[in-house]
Amino acid sequence: MTSTRKAKVVVVGSLHYDIMVEAPDRPRKGETVTGYSWRPKFGGKGGNQAVAAAKANADVSMVGAVGDDDFGQFLLTKLQTVNINVSRVERLPGTGSGMSVAISDSSGDYGAVIVSGANLLVPPEAVTDAALWSDAGALILQNEMADDLNIAAARSARQAGVRVCLNAAPYRPLPPALSEVIDLLIVNAIEAEQLGGLEVRDLNSARTAAERLTQHYATVVVTAGGDGVAGCEKGREPIALEALPVELVSTHGAGDVFVGTLVSAIASGAGFGASLKTANDAAAAHVSSQPAHA
Ligand code: ADP
Repeated sequence: MTSTRKAKVVVVGSLHYDIMVEAPDRPRKGETVTGYSWRPKFGGKGGNQAVAAAKANADVSMVGAVGDDDFGQFLLTKLQTVNINVSRVERLPGTGSGMSVAISDSSGDYGAVIVSGANLLVPPEAVTDAALWSDAGALILQNEMADDLNIAAARSARQAGVRVCLNAAPYRPLPPALSEVIDLLIVNAIEAEQLGGLEVRDLNSARTAAERLTQHYATVVVTAGGDGVAGCEKGREPIALEALPVELVSTHGAGDVFVGTLVSAIASGAGFGASLKTANDAAAAHVSSQPAHA
């Protein structure tokens, strides 16, 4: 039997204050539309994954930055509410926090603007202090932060013997200096296709894509939305798990819940297959629950 423990997970990632607006139509050039409602949402892939890891019982340390505005305070408070260590989240004077505005119209289509703000100003020195890695089981990175920061964090974690996990979202070509130090790559169907050149249409093709990507990465997970998830450790048989049949409310943020839960489980000492199942179950519970107010 594999023993599991409370794991320390370091998340170097983005924090966004998301404003979700509902309106009959999205504005055209020069037009002002009267909307129905809006709500603030805690966001940024890094922040969402950190919260998911904390809810999955990890001891999470976040590295990032917010501005010295009210949005920044909102983001810090949310992280603290789930006991995430924010001592390495800088409040940068004179800078705006990362934010987005998404407008959904009555047909369900939406358009969004994202401003990275403070997220792009985290200096690489923020991730090279050895104390950050003490007792850590895993590092989670995403593609919403600067490549230089991701490379510095990955190298520093690797040097300290900490597992480097990259959620390569949103897609961008990975610099070799980053891809060569990744232990676990997590991508959705579209990103798998963009990184590996294989079309992912269903669980079976996700399985093939995951196995193919182990030519470049030690362990690969390809999430396939409502079809489920496939994972492969280099040289081993791939694993494919169907998604749990649930009543769908919204798939928004499913991938982030999956990533935070998976890495927390792996860092706690659970096996790869068991960790995939835990994350697949948590993501299904997320897509079938009502969105929280923030
Ligand atoms: P992303 O949000 O990054 O695009 P996916 O859409 O692939 O990621 O979803 C991530 C995971 O969320 C899936 O692998 C699955 O575990 C879960 N999931 C997504 N959609 C559903 C669904 N309709 N029913 C059950 N689980 C789902």
